[in-house]
Amino acid sequence: MILKYLLGVVFYLALFLSQAQDTTYARSVIKKLTSKEFLGRGYVNNGINKAAKYLISEFKTIGLLPIRKSFSQHYTFNVNTFPGEINVIIDGKTLEAGKHFLIDPSSKTLKSSFQLFKTDSVTYKAFDVHNEATLEIKLKKKLTYTVATSLEDIAIVELLKDSFPNELKNSDVVYENKFIQNFKCQNIIGYIKGTEHPDSFLVYSAHYDHLGAMGTTAYFPGANDNASGVSVLLNLAKYYKKHPSKYSIAFFLFSGEEAGLLGSKYYSEHPFFPLSKIKFLTNLDLLGTGSDGIMAVNATVFKSQFEKLVAVNEKNKYVSQIKQRGKAANSDHYWFSEKGVPCFFIYTLGGVTFYHDIYDVDITLPLTDYIDICKLLIDFNNSL
Ligand SMILES: [Zn+2]
Repeated sequence: MILKYLLGVVFYLALFLSQAQDTTYARSVIKKLTSKEFLGRGYVNNGINKAAKYLISEFKTIGLLPIRKSFSQHYTFNVNTFPGEINVIIDGKTLEAGKHFLIDPSSKTLKSSFQLFKTDSVTYKAFDVHNEATLEIKLKKKLTYTVATSLEDIAIVELLKDSFPNELKNSDVVYENKFIQNFKCQNIIGYIKGTEHPDSFLVYSAHYDHLGAMGTTAYFPGANDNASGVSVLLNLAKYYKKHPSKYSIAFFLFSGEEAGLLGSKYYSEHPFFPLSKIKFLTNLDLLGTGSDGIMAVNATVFKSQFEKLVAVNEKNKYVSQIKQRGKAANSDHYWFSEKGVPCFFIYTLGGVTFYHDIYDVDITLPLTDYIDICKLLIDFNNSL
């Protein structure tokens, strides 16, 4: 009786330790990817390619194999950046980048003082005769940054509405843009050979890029978006290395997602093996929460696979609910489903809602249902 009890304790302790270990690795990956070293995995200081170097070394450590000669697939796109100092002063108050304001990512260099004219409750316009510069100021409830691959003629500064209750009168705005032509990016592609059907692939994908930096003080860490998904992908790679599947398991880490799903588009047009050999692809993006379960995009398109996903979840009670959506061009799975590859995009629901801002950091990311989601993804692939 006592022995049975002790064995029980040992079993749960081992289970707890192995689970703790999995999230320990996840936390270390997320911390590294969101660190200042990679500056938000964008284009200032080549942050994205520094992150790529780290991820390739993780692929090698885990023991993944390249499908071609190397893990990297290079491609290029144009991107606008603000690598230098940004100064925005409104009515004598110097503002903090990312916290009080954002420069619209498609803006060109601006160095001017303006008198501001309110055109509606959330917009100011200004024209500086000396420099022939035009500025638009928009008041926003939330500051949400993006990536621009082309330039606009009008400069836009977005201000956090709540920080500016009074009428605005004048502004000094100084920043320089650097438009990079043909920025060289890479997708990272590795796999574990299947034991029975090595030519048939189950694929996990996740984008490792984010929005980079804006100026010299603000960068966008992208913990939930999508250091979380990358960490799940690496955890699954570790699992499949220990427990090889009868199908080959491929791991696609895409770049250029925030610039318009560019890395996955490039890969889908230049695949390393025929897309028809993909049995199923699961795209992982925004996996850091889970208190309200998960969402499956493409659930209504690939109904029989969705039924399997729900069945393995109900059997093991992994997540509280699996909501379903139809087709959506909201992450890297999109190009694959357009080309007829069966796939889902899975993201978690509930918890913190920081999105495309400076607050999407590792320490507040709850990883609520992290282990259960990993188990669910493995069981689901086993059911296919
Ligand atoms: Zn994302």
